[in-house]
Amino acid sequence: MSFPPIRPELAGIEPYGAPQLPVDEVPVQLNVNENPYGPSDACIHDIAAAAADAARTLNRYPDREFVALRTALASYLSGEVLGEIVAEQVWAANGSNEVMLQLLQAFGGPGRTAVSFAPTYSMYPEYARDTNTHWVVGKRADDFSLDLEHALRVVAEHSPDVILLPSPNNPTGTALPLESITALCEAVAGAPGSPTGIVVVDEAYGEFRRTGVPSALDLLPTHRNLVVTRTMSKAFAAAGLRLGYLAADPAICDAIRVVRLPYHLSAVTQATALAALQHAPELLGNVDQLRAQRDKTVAWLRDQGLEVADSDANFCLFGTFGDRHAVWQGLVDRGVLIRETGPDGWLRVSIGTPEEMAAFEDALVEVMKEMS
Ligand SMILES: *Cc1c(COP(=O)(O)O)cnc(C)c1O
Repeated sequence: MSFPPIRPELAGIEPYGAPQLPVDEVPVQLNVNENPYGPSDACIHDIAAAAADAARTLNRYPDREFVALRTALASYLSGEVLGEIVAEQVWAANGSNEVMLQLLQAFGGPGRTAVSFAPTYSMYPEYARDTNTHWVVGKRADDFSLDLEHALRVVAEHSPDVILLPSPNNPTGTALPLESITALCEAVAGAPGSPTGIVVVDEAYGEFRRTGVPSALDLLPTHRNLVVTRTMSKAFAAAGLRLGYLAADPAICDAIRVVRLPYHLSAVTQATALAALQHAPELLGNVDQLRAQRDKTVAWLRDQGLEVADSDANFCLFGTFGDRHAVWQGLVDRGVLIRETGPDGWLRVSIGTPEEMAAFEDALVEVMKEMS
């Protein structure tokens, strides 16, 4: 008998996570899709003041329903849709990863099935494993778009309780058309006698989508089984805050309240997230520049003769390389950290500052020259 006596299906598994290399050794860090721009002094000051204020009552448990924060998040989302999103439709947790784990705790579980389509976000099978949810993965088309006919066949065969759809997708950057989301919502909406499921559209990169690309938030009024998740980790430039959230029917938020741990959002998190939200225009102020830099990077990579997936996110997936690990290592040796992820032969680079992208491009040219 080996020690510790962990569940056998977890034995020997490496914890998930991109390599975190010291920034003094690898100064250009373009591997986890962070926003490269930190907050202004005014924003830092307000966040610090909010944390100090929360500290005064740290002897007390925080507001379990985090009403002020839910109201602020609802009002932020309302700016993106035609109708209004209200606080009862919003739920939050320590990163959208925790939101999605809670969704699987409430809507997945033993005897239930979750479905996604590869390449997809690598955390989804982990939420399924951790909640004992049966995991089924279909596939995307060769250009990484969703093959709706195939997706509907997978859904018909497995009757999933939860469908997980990242849009824009990680690691490919591909956004989904609303027609596909609608079709999948209807496919699991429960015709008489068949099981019902929810569709989770993970819009972690939603704010980076190209002009004219819609958000699934627009479908909330017409689809009760739709959940749209967002995060403050990417466009919002607050990955260190750990604040993710969702918008859905209030009944879905109520269901999650059954599985959440009591007081899961600390008083400090609630206070600092609220302060950050008050600086939303500033924190989101670099999104347009990052989108332009992304489009430039896609064009530049194509000019090098590489394949690049169309991207609505703050990263691009490019390739293909016979030995992608050698390319990744060659870049690390030149002080540039990107991500070895996605289908065989592909690599993913996050969009940084113009200086960081110049360093990436110079290093990649050298590595490719050396390898040819
Ligand atoms: C980065 C990312 C998230 C966000 O995770 P947080 O827990 O909110 O930091 C969610 N989904 C996808 C697909 C991501 O790439």
